[in-house]
Amino acid sequence: ETIHIHTESKNYDVFLGEGVLRTIQSFLANHFQDLTKILIITDETVAKIHLDTLLSCLPDYKPLVYTAPGGEKAKTFEVYYDALSTALENRLDRKSVILSFGGGAVGDLAGFVAATFMRGIPFIQIPTTILSHDSAVGGKVAINHPLGKNMIGAFHQPEAVFYDIDLLKTLPIQEIRSGFAEVIKHGLIYDPYFFGWLQNNVFDLNALTMEQLTYSLSKGIKIKREFVSKDEKETGVRAYLNFGHTLGHAVESEMGYGNFTHGESVLIGMIFALNLSKELQGLLFNVNEFKNWVTKLGYETRIPPNLSFESLICKMRQDKKSVGEAIRFVLLEQLGQPTLQEVSDVVLLDQLKSF
Ligand code: NAD
Ligand code: ZN
Repeated sequence: ETIHIHTESKNYDVFLGEGVLRTIQSFLANHFQDLTKILIITDETVAKIHLDTLLSCLPDYKPLVYTAPGGEKAKTFEVYYDALSTALENRLDRKSVILSFGGGAVGDLAGFVAATFMRGIPFIQIPTTILSHDSAVGGKVAINHPLGKNMIGAFHQPEAVFYDIDLLKTLPIQEIRSGFAEVIKHGLIYDPYFFGWLQNNVFDLNALTMEQLTYSLSKGIKIKREFVSKDEKETGVRAYLNFGHTLGHAVESEMGYGNFTHGESVLIGMIFALNLSKELQGLLFNVNEFKNWVTKLGYETRIPPNLSFESLICKMRQDKKSVGEAIRFVLLEQLGQPTLQEVSDVVLLDQLKSF
């Protein structure tokens, strides 16, 4: 399946399905006539398992490879600097292309290298996680600062996304869970029918069929596309994609990155936002049924007991989406109808206590 993405700055395609990686060489040949160099940016884990597969799909080229540390460690200044050094030492230029080969962390790093090297060169996303159905589409790229995640970044759309489902077969279960939380999010904020399909068909993330996975990713990408094409630079509706992320980010960072995956934290944040939506927006929704379902899928539904409510509220206030002092939440008026609302500390503390 080919999914077309239209944004103000660029139009591009997402090629989704088993084996799509085998078409990447002809895509390069057709789209980059005087291509000088290819730099693959990947991480240790993905390189070990899948780099040979990617190289075997590029027999006519001799790509350079930069391997970052796995996971969030790929998004530091040091790694960013190191990747740029590799690009300079090997004389990449504006006619070169960067291939981002990995999950969201590698995608954010590689995209930011591509956005800033010589004021911007083209890059292609080759996502290898479920979560990257979210991160590989939309053009947000970034690295972390010790004072805040994703604080140093750019908007830089890829030339294409090659999303080969075969690469996902090696994902550990907690990474499947992490990515699938964003699929559930996309259903909740945009498509009640799709959300219903998920709740009625997905009972075991270890036993997802390729059909279910492809359908879920396709839906998730198309929903993300709706928000991104209306609002590439996040001045309006794109903020709705942060549903569950206000408390989610706070839980993720208080737990320490790596102890709790992004999606697992966001799932807790979504339950919190659903409760708030019932209270403040009159949302009709059975939160208990939802909790039972996601518990069966292996998600934690409570805030880890070692986290203090005060420090969570403090973290939420630092969230870059908050304006001034008030904490802004994405809430749902109805399933598929998000809205932004400021929530006072008193209400927040109350909700946290009864969570
Ligand atoms: P990740 O890239 O850290 O990957 C998770 C782990 O899985 C890593 O250890 C990685 O090495 C491993 N892995 C990747 N592919 C694998 C495979 N096929 N088989 C086995 N192991 C594999 O994380 P992620 O969950 O994909 O993405 C999270 C990152 O994405 C965060 O840094 C987040 O900020 C970012 N993000 C960005 C956007 C955006 O719009 N730019 C959106 C959402 C998230
Ligand atoms: Zn997220």
